[in-house]
Amino acid sequence: MSKLRITEIFHSLQGESATVGWRTVFVRLTGCPLRCGYCDTTYAFKGGEWFDIADIVARVATFEAHYVTVTGGEPLAQSNCLGLLTALCDAGYHVSLETSGAIDIAPVDRRVVRVMDLKTPGSGEEARNRYDNIESLLSHDQVKFVITDEADYQWSREQLRTHQLDARCEVLFSPAEGMLRPSELAGWILRDRLNVRFQLQLHKILWGNEPGR
Ligand code: SF4
Repeated sequence: MSKLRITEIFHSLQGESATVGWRTVFVRLTGCPLRCGYCDTTYAFKGGEWFDIADIVARVATFEAHYVTVTGGEPLAQSNCLGLLTALCDAGYHVSLETSGAIDIAPVDRRVVRVMDLKTPGSGEEARNRYDNIESLLSHDQVKFVITDEADYQWSREQLRTHQLDARCEVLFSPAEGMLRPSELAGWILRDRLNVRFQLQLHKILWGNEPGR
């Protein structure tokens, strides 16, 4: 049986990435091997319930949405996540995966949009970045930086340049909530003329940090 440990399956508006604002079903897998200082989903580290892949796909269908995001925790920490992603693609959804960048993304179904973090020094988990993942990125994927301060911004700008990330795919710069004023980050991006997409988390503006939103 292909089972996965799931923290929650819920329906909301996509708060981040290129599909922001679309009605989306979120499948949140339990567990994460990282401990980022700003993590807002620590409730997904433990617990959860076991579901068969077929049951997850059936539950997703009840929401009648076109978009599905598989998130965590770190979804790829459960090997059966790969089968779930393929099953959701086969069912006809636009599927995205939110991943920390610490686990190999190459085996993920190529139909999936991979939204991959590069962890900044301010996250406390920079050492977990798997830079060879960059070679696996396709043009429909996205690389995301959550930026906590000016030093993180400078580090992210350097990664952008060194790996020519904006030539590979869309790059997202997001201020860490409560740590960096959004207007400050916006000003730096404009000053330095970076070809990145600034983003605020729509779901937090609408609902704060409520789980299941
Ligand atoms: S990778 Fe994501 S879920 Fe894991 S600790 Fe970092 S922010 Fe939290």
